Order: sequence, then structure tokens, then C-alpha cells
Amino acid sequence: RAKALGGNRYHLFDPLLHQEASERLALENDLRYAYERQEFEVYYQPILNLQTGALFGFEALLRWHHPERGWVSPPEFIPTIEETGLIDQVGEWVLEQACQQVKQWHRDWDLPLVMSVNLSVRQFAQPDFLDQVDRVLIQTGLEPRFLKLEITETALMENSQSTLFILRQLKSRQIKISIDDFGTGYSSLSYLHTFPVDTLKIDRVFVEGMSKSRDGQGLVPAILNLARATDIDTIAEGIETLEQRDILRRLGCNFAQGFLFSQPKQACDLHPDQIQFGGEN
Ligand code: C2E
Ligand code: MG
Ligand code: MG
Ligand code: MG
Repeated sequence: RAKALGGNRYHLFDPLLHQEASERLALENDLRYAYERQEFEVYYQPILNLQTGALFGFEALLRWHHPERGWVSPPEFIPTIEETGLIDQVGEWVLEQACQQVKQWHRDWDLPLVMSVNLSVRQFAQPDFLDQVDRVLIQTGLEPRFLKLEITETALMENSQSTLFILRQLKSRQIKISIDDFGTGYSSLSYLHTFPVDTLKIDRVFVEGMSKSRDGQGLVPAILNLARATDIDTIAEGIETLEQRDILRRLGCNFAQGFLFSQPKQACDLHPDQIQFGGEN
């Protein structure tokens, strides 16, 4: 670039790039303090049994409220906390909060609810990851079978030898494993036999795609057949309409999550009687 401009290195300064870089730095900096300033919160979105309408559990979703920026959405800040390594601390905190919360709901509501927690590859790669999980389960008193860990298909494909080891360790503790954003990773399906997976989460793009496709179903039946053939449960993400709910139910999908049933909410705003299978919130 500098050469093309005649070797004048002062031309390397690009105001737009400079602005982007300083915005990124500012975000990084704000995130460094977010944890100690208690700007993070965990929200919970219900997951329902699609065949019976019963509440099955929740997915824990991280939220960040910055005093000036306001609410920042996870896609805007999760990549940064992953790159900076802040996810190690924040991720452990989310796990702790989520386990404690579902244990509390077991007591309050007397329902055997399962809590799903998202994991980034980085967390998985921490040498003390299994110790963290064990410690949180012991401290909160949550039985491991009520914890489900979500790992994306792409993350699973990275470094698959050590991932396999960790998944087997989790499995031996009765912790459940879910593949998040299933179908978006363009990976080989053979890993479904290799990895001890309990659940596939069908990505929202496929649920949306159902209404756009000619037969009204798109790729979803193929994914559901695959899951059935490999004895794996299925959750459809991002259900927004009754039509989507009904098609997925008819096709035999096991569980459902989406704005039709409930937005992700703070724990205090959630009550099992108010989570509507027909959906009105
Ligand atoms: P995800 O794990 O696939 O989570 C589902 C996302 O879909 C959530 O977005 C949820 O709010 C959104 N969603 C649920 N139902 C609907 C619907 O009916 N319509 C639409 N349009 N969206 C719906 P959110 O909370 O913004 O999180 C985005 C992503 O950020 C998550 O995708 C996950 O990959 C990541 N994430 C969130 N919390 C954590 C966390 O604690 N740790 C890690 N490592 N990643 C997290
Ligand atoms: Mg998830
Ligand atoms: Mg997902
Ligand atoms: Mg997704």
C-alpha cells in the first residue's frame, strides 16, 4: 500500500481504520472493568417440551449493561471477551450463576429443570476447566444431570482430540452435551458418532428457512431424521410463530426455544405458570 502510494509512509494513516481501531480498544477497555463493576447479568430463556408443552429448562444468556453504551448485545462483545481471555473469568461466573439459579428453581418450583450454559472454545481449552465445573457443581449442590453444556459445531471441530477427552469426562459425570447452531458449521456428520452428544440445537436459520422453502420445511426434516437415527435429542431455536411450532412438533422435534414462548429474562421475571406454549409475550 505504502509503495503504491509512492513509498511515503505517512499515507499509511487511514482515518477510518484508525477510528475502528480506537473503538475496538475502547470496547476492550470497558470490558476489562465490566466484571468488577458488576455490569454483567445472566438472563434465562425457557426451553419447552415441544410434544407436551411442559417446561423443560432454560438457556443462560449473558447480558452486558454499560453505563453509557447501555445494553450491548452478545454478538458485539462476546468475540472480544473471547479474544482478550476475559471469557475465562466471566464464563466461570455465568456457570456459577446458572447452576445456583436452577438449583433454586428446583427448590422453589419442585420441577426437574435442566440448565443449558454456553461455552466458548477457549473455556474448554483451560487446563482447569473440569475442576471449575466440579467445583461449581459441589458448591451449588446441583446434580450434574441437570446441567447441559452448549458448544458450537465449529468449536467442536477445532482441536478435536482434546475436545473429545473433555466431552468424555463430562459425560462420565452425567453432564449433558448439546451442539449449538447445528447445521451452520459445514462439518462432516461423522463426528456425531465420535462425540458423546445428547442434543442438537437446530439453528434459527433453518427454522426461519422453513417458511421460505417450497415445501414449508426445508432442511429441518433431514436434520431431525439424522438425529433420530443417531439417538440424539433435538431443540429448535428461534421459534417465533405458531406455524413454525406446529410444523416442528409434527416433524417430531423434541424441544423448543424462541420468542413465541418467551424472551430471555431475568430470573425474578420468570415463573413457570407464565410461560405460555401458545405464546403471548
Ligand atoms: P446462542 O447460544 O445460539 O443463543 C440463542 C440466541 O438466540 C440468543 O441470542 C437468544 O436471545 C436468541 N433467540 C432466542 N429465541 C429467539 C427468537 O425467537 N428469535 C430471534 N431472533 N432470536 C432468538 P443472544 O442472547 O443475543 O446470544 C447470542 C449468542 O451469544 C449466543 O447464541 C451464544 O453463542 C453467545 N452467548 C450468549 N451468552 C453466552 C455465554 O454466557 N457464554 C458464551 N460463551 N457465549 C454466549
Ligand atoms: Mg446456545
Ligand atoms: Mg444456538
Ligand atoms: Mg444461534
